[in-house]
Amino acid sequence: MSTIDTNLSSFIDMASDSDFSIHNLPYGIFSDTADGKRRAGVAIGEHVLDLALLETEGLLTLKGGRYFDQPTLNAFIDSGRDNWTLARSTIQTLLSADSDTLRDDQHLQKKALFKQADVTMHLPVHIPGYTDFYSSKEHATNVGTIFRDPNNALLPNWTELPVGYNGRASTVFVTGSTDIIRPSGQLKPNPDDRPIFAPCKRLDFELETAFIVGKPNKIGEPIPIGKAWDHIFGMVLFNDWSARDIQKWEYVPLGPFNAKTFASEISPWIVTMDALEPFKTELPTQDPEPLPYLREKKTDSSFDIYLSVSILPEGADTATLLSETNFKYMYWSMGQQLTHHTISGCEVEVGDLMGSGTISGPTPGSYGSMLEIAWNATKPVELKGGGTRTFIDDGDTVIMKGYSEKDGIRVGFGEVRGKVLPALDFDFDA
Ligand code: MN
Repeated sequence: MSTIDTNLSSFIDMASDSDFSIHNLPYGIFSDTADGKRRAGVAIGEHVLDLALLETEGLLTLKGGRYFDQPTLNAFIDSGRDNWTLARSTIQTLLSADSDTLRDDQHLQKKALFKQADVTMHLPVHIPGYTDFYSSKEHATNVGTIFRDPNNALLPNWTELPVGYNGRASTVFVTGSTDIIRPSGQLKPNPDDRPIFAPCKRLDFELETAFIVGKPNKIGEPIPIGKAWDHIFGMVLFNDWSARDIQKWEYVPLGPFNAKTFASEISPWIVTMDALEPFKTELPTQDPEPLPYLREKKTDSSFDIYLSVSILPEGADTATLLSETNFKYMYWSMGQQLTHHTISGCEVEVGDLMGSGTISGPTPGSYGSMLEIAWNATKPVELKGGGTRTFIDDGDTVIMKGYSEKDGIRVGFGEVRGKVLPALDFDFDA
């Protein structure tokens, strides 16, 4: 496990609990109001550092050409780990308090630094494919208990393989770029009647993270577990919005379909695995021991990442904290997920997004979905300023945050913040 250089600091003023310390340096795609042109930046404190400008100024030179004056990060990520390392060390040096190049050049600072509040963030990568796993044992146990049978909550395959499904990349969006329109679909409120078509009445969030694939494989060639981590570029926060009543009716036998395809919301900044390295921690004990192709080579294959979710009702002054959990509760590692994904020969591409699955901890205060927090609508949650919830109402804003912290150093993800709008009132006969 690598240690943190606590002597490293930036000349940029920032709060001591800023998510975007000089130890983080997450990548995103932004435009400022002046020209609307998308390019790559790194978050530092409350600012964005314009990487395209650094390239133009000759202050950031990578192998193989220029990568940052582009509307996505795919080309940079695809250029390989040597460039990831070189970019990180160059940017970290430029932003450090000990380096005068940017620190003492007010003119350059004015051109290269933007307030995050003044820019628009865009989807950081083109996402060719999106897969969602189901890798929190506590979550899978809770859902199995609620939907099926408390005595057989986990199906027999769950402890043998990272269960997942192929989702829709087309409806992954960056937080802030759109609101969430309540989906309509087939619901079956009465078990003895036929289904009805109506707006979802059990709209839910899923508190997740997701990783971004940084290196492809070839079709037919699985990624072995010993190399899986070389294929992971970084992570984002992820609210995988879900329609529980649509899901309950449609999911047997092939898994979720419409219930999961309407809104998948990511945070704008990709936190690199290099930045998260100091926060590695052990995976939970895996029993039974996985088959050999799924056995991690190291035990510190998880990460200590604090996660929280809150609801801000329409018109309310303060949000209500609903849950606090941690990525370290995940049963299957990201490496195991990627190896299992490709073991059949499935090709993954640079920019592919792999959701963790809802992350629930062991206690009710650490559950990652309303389905669990309000236990299938049997335990309503009180909100500050009045009102209760069993699922998400129109007008509610769901806020997720996440960060790692150690030795007073924080590496954070920022937040996802999505507001729910009423279902469309469309013409059924059109
Ligand atoms: Mn999910």
